[in-house]
Amino acid sequence: MRDYGHCPACGVAFRPGYLPRVYPTTCPNCGETLRLAVGHVWVSAILGAAASMLLSTALGFRGEMLWVIALAAWFPALLFFVFVIGLIRPVRYKTLSQPDRFDSSVSLFRKPRP
Ligand SMILES: [Zn+2]
Repeated sequence: MRDYGHCPACGVAFRPGYLPRVYPTTCPNCGETLRLAVGHVWVSAILGAAASMLLSTALGFRGEMLWVIALAAWFPALLFFVFVIGLIRPVRYKTLSQPDRFDSSVSLFRKPRP
């Protein structure tokens, strides 16, 4: 069977109907609060930006209107790619306490050391 992602806390595999979400969600088995791994969202955001620019250009928008339309189309495109990439590759989830590699190295604000 295909891997649709699994819970990092209890290891239960998610059913096909359990779609990846950007915002924190809970594991249906153990109730642990989960979020998508940051890398998945970053790739979706970049692909979404490229797709919304290409679409706006293809629809004939130019100049300032191109940027306005591309910006408006970016977030729906991001959600679309989060969904599509989730179908192609198993989505990696993390618990809220598990850090991402991005989180540990770069931050705008000083974080207290545990
Ligand atoms: Zn779980």
